[in-house]
Amino acid sequence: MATTKAIYDYQGIEINIEYKPIKRMHLRVKPPLGAVSLSCPKSTSLEKIEEFLKQHNFWLKKTILKVQSRPQIQGREYVTGETIYIWGKEYKLEVCSTDQKERVGVLEDKLVLMVKKGTSKTKRELLVEKWLVKQLEMHLQEVFDESQAVVSKEANSWYTRKMSTRWGTCNITTGRICINQRLVHLEPKFLFYIVIHELTHLWESGHGEKFKARMDLYCPKWRILRKELNEQAGLAW
Ligand SMILES: [Zn+2]
Repeated sequence: MATTKAIYDYQGIEINIEYKPIKRMHLRVKPPLGAVSLSCPKSTSLEKIEEFLKQHNFWLKKTILKVQSRPQIQGREYVTGETIYIWGKEYKLEVCSTDQKERVGVLEDKLVLMVKKGTSKTKRELLVEKWLVKQLEMHLQEVFDESQAVVSKEANSWYTRKMSTRWGTCNITTGRICINQRLVHLEPKFLFYIVIHELTHLWESGHGEKFKARMDLYCPKWRILRKELNEQAGLAW
């Protein structure tokens, strides 16, 4: 069945459009990241699509929020023995007690969390999360330096955030790039790919042929990386 794909920006929401030999439009929000896809009959105009999305505006936004607010890490208690992925490698969490200041660190294949006795789960989670963000941000400048040399464009600034629907964003007006903090859990090659993708938006705003041609030059394996990344998205970290 022949399908043509396109990406449409609807009020800042990325809609993955698939033109298929079908009769009616069909809108879906996929877990876990809340990616939106719209199947539509082959010759549907962009006006029709915009109109359809407007009609389903409330449902769409409500459903994205619902999918996004589902806990990504189900049932994690931040206790000894739990698995955590850092740069694609598996670590076991080990919680130890200390009378001194709390700290987190890697010891062989363990992520050691030193906390005072009776420290709450929320506090343990916060400490681990803060440490993970630090690992990401410590590495990220280097990734930007290397990627900017490849792409020949520079971001004005970058920051990181936890995002549910995107691995990164690029504001082409301000040149500010945002990177999803969850990338710290995956192999470093994915971080490179996302940074290159966002920097490439400083040349091309959409995901059209010109954008793809640049990606082919800057990151020849981007299609494979994108596929792998989408497959990883549903896994627990
Ligand atoms: Zn993009």
